[in-house]
Amino acid sequence: MASHGVISIVTDKALTKAELKAEISRRVEEQRQALIELSLNIHDNPELGFKEEKAAGWLTGYLAENGFQIEKGIGGLPTAFKAAYGRNKPSIALLAEYDALPEIGHACGHNIIAASAAGAAVASKLVIDNVGGAVFVFGTPAEELFGGKVFMLQAGVFDGVDVAMMAHPGVRDTAMNEALACIGLDVQFFGKAAHAAAYPEQGINALESMILAFNAVNSLRQHIKDRARIHGIITHGGEAANVVPAYSAASFFVRAQDNIYLDELKQKVLKCFEGAALATGARLDYKWAEIVYAPMKNNLVLAQLFAQNLESLGRKVEPFEPYFDFGSTDMGNISQVIPAIHPSIAIVSPSVLLHSAEFVQAAASESGHRGLLDTAKALAMTVADLLGEADTMARVKDEFSRQ
Ligand SMILES: [Zn+2]
Ligand SMILES: [Zn+2]
Repeated sequence: MASHGVISIVTDKALTKAELKAEISRRVEEQRQALIELSLNIHDNPELGFKEEKAAGWLTGYLAENGFQIEKGIGGLPTAFKAAYGRNKPSIALLAEYDALPEIGHACGHNIIAASAAGAAVASKLVIDNVGGAVFVFGTPAEELFGGKVFMLQAGVFDGVDVAMMAHPGVRDTAMNEALACIGLDVQFFGKAAHAAAYPEQGINALESMILAFNAVNSLRQHIKDRARIHGIITHGGEAANVVPAYSAASFFVRAQDNIYLDELKQKVLKCFEGAALATGARLDYKWAEIVYAPMKNNLVLAQLFAQNLESLGRKVEPFEPYFDFGSTDMGNISQVIPAIHPSIAIVSPSVLLHSAEFVQAAASESGHRGLLDTAKALAMTVADLLGEADTMARVKDEFSRQ
């Protein structure tokens, strides 16, 4: 009943931007308990990438109850979804991630991303009812392990979207974050087993090939550009100490600030493995991952709007430069084709690291809940800025086309 009264006030007289934002804030507060419950349910039931059935079910349930039209399993991904309110242009996409990490759980706080996107979308209905346009929540699975957004982009599910936004819980309030281009590499060496003491001369040591390759990568690392990263683990190193290892395997990630340098670095990294194969006589087999995480292209106009809205909630946004806190994200791929932001909202002090047990706790704490609500408010207020003035959307698009 209460919301009915508000809607009639809205239709009786146009709200000023300030009134609209105050009402958005109130509508997020109205959802407080439901959003915290959503966040804690996801947090307490961690699901890995592409297995987020419960999270996707709770989110779509909540959005359907609040008047959104739901499409499940979009882009061929069973745990992806689209929830839509409004039919006209322009359209704003709020992206929800909800996958957890193996073993540790919600150490990246994606439960907060999901609940804040849902809260922002429901509060944004007020904007759509007043000025038109559309708001979508895209449920984007498997950010951590498989780059779900890249599959969704390839399937065309974001076609026609004008702006894409999400905010990630972190240790700082920032409007822009850098994310590196990233590709995975799986390598295997095939040698020849032999008794390690009786006939060592007849063996070809696949583990030594791998160790040589690691050392070559270590040598390469002192001659690569700042912020480029090469890191890996050995996943198979032999069966027994008295058998010359006939097989070894490793997984690597290669990262760079842009795609051009990533391509260059890939060739150099590969030479490290080829050189080791030549030196030991083992056969090298390798496979680059099909999904490449693109670097983040931050839209400054969007970032400034979001920062102003976040500051209006009493937070202090750190100096305006991209922060280097997130490694790589499939939001980078979205940002290459749609004007986008991926800011961070502090839920814990900078001494705590993302992907740690402390961050798991923070993602379910009082300060995590505050982060969730502030994120939902700032996102919905930014929707109001974007849909409320044609000029603002034009500035966002103009910057994007010039980048
Ligand atoms: Zn993460
Ligand atoms: Zn994350």
